[in-house]
Amino acid sequence: MNLTDFTFIVTEKCNFECAYCYQKKGEKDIDISNIKKAVDFFSPFFAEKCHISFYGGEPLLAFELIRETVNYINEKKSEKEIKYSLTTNGSLLDEKIIRFFNRHKFSIRLSFDGLAQEIFRQKSSFNQILSNLKRILKHPGIDFDTNSVFTPETIRYLTKSTRYLVELGVPNVKFSLSTLTLWDQQSLDLLRDELESMRNFLVTFYKKNGSIPVINFRKSYPRGIFACYAGKTRMALAPDGNLWGCFLFWDYYKTREETGGYRKYCFGRLDSFIKNLIKNRNSVYPLISSNYAKLRIDHFCTPDTFCMLCDEMEDCMVCPVDAAFSGAIMGNVPAHHCEINKIESRERRLFREELENKGKSYSNTAS
Ligand code: SF4
Ligand code: SF4
Repeated sequence: MNLTDFTFIVTEKCNFECAYCYQKKGEKDIDISNIKKAVDFFSPFFAEKCHISFYGGEPLLAFELIRETVNYINEKKSEKEIKYSLTTNGSLLDEKIIRFFNRHKFSIRLSFDGLAQEIFRQKSSFNQILSNLKRILKHPGIDFDTNSVFTPETIRYLTKSTRYLVELGVPNVKFSLSTLTLWDQQSLDLLRDELESMRNFLVTFYKKNGSIPVINFRKSYPRGIFACYAGKTRMALAPDGNLWGCFLFWDYYKTREETGGYRKYCFGRLDSFIKNLIKNRNSVYPLISSNYAKLRIDHFCTPDTFCMLCDEMEDCMVCPVDAAFSGAIMGNVPAHHCEINKIESRERRLFREELENKGKSYSNTAS
């Protein structure tokens, strides 16, 4: 095991009810004794640079658990470089919490839909999140980005909202396209138009500032044969004490306990996982991680073709759980999801070509 990312799913609770959210909320928080046990056991398997991530529900509903975990890990004074990260809806941030994140150099991903915030997210949340976003920007120790989710109903806001966030000074802006609902031809056409105007905006921005503030368009955005990291370099511990290859597998399977998929991807209880591994008779880890190893895009297919026959494959990234949430079985990609990926890949390629043709060597990062 060489773990670059270990996630603690600190709570099932959430204080928002976003219409496109696929999570089934619950009431459980993770047990601090399980966190400590996991840290003690998995630390030797952490890579030289390892991300410890906090996820929910809304993880700030369990801020004290986050604080205790960070303090516990820091007291161990590992030689390894530990980087903390967290995804939040931003509603519970206050000065004390932001200062804590700044002190411990957190990467914070704010789920904020910008100008489309109040359409599917919590009503009346725009001003509150905006003011918290501005507070975070004043703390240089925080590595900050936003993620905005767009649906067929909100796609018309994509470029306008992204520009708005960039102009506010957000250094790293990401957008995600929800595939939970079907995208009809009209919304796919709209997506094409929006991405084209985003590309034009980014070319102009790059010429002026020499940076690319939208993560989706950076060169470092995954290229090549995409393979899901779950169960290989990533593990996650759930509030019920079960271990998964990624927090998203927990999201998907926690309401599907009776399925074969649950048995295929769940590493089981932390306690028995540790006990068996220590006694050197753990057959669970190699067996389950070999199931995760098959989750590569060249093994996936759509209703019409095999991904390995597709010209876009090296530019395409499909999270298998995301695809499963949009109605396919694990490893299959629904047709509308594939079409969205093709549109995105094409725009990324055109963007790259446009900059390269202009003789610009374009950088990976924001600055
Ligand atoms: S664009 Fe579609 S067919 Fe091509 S690799 Fe991606 S999901 Fe597979
Ligand atoms: S591709 Fe999806 S399931 Fe795999 S590691 Fe990434 S987020 Fe997790």
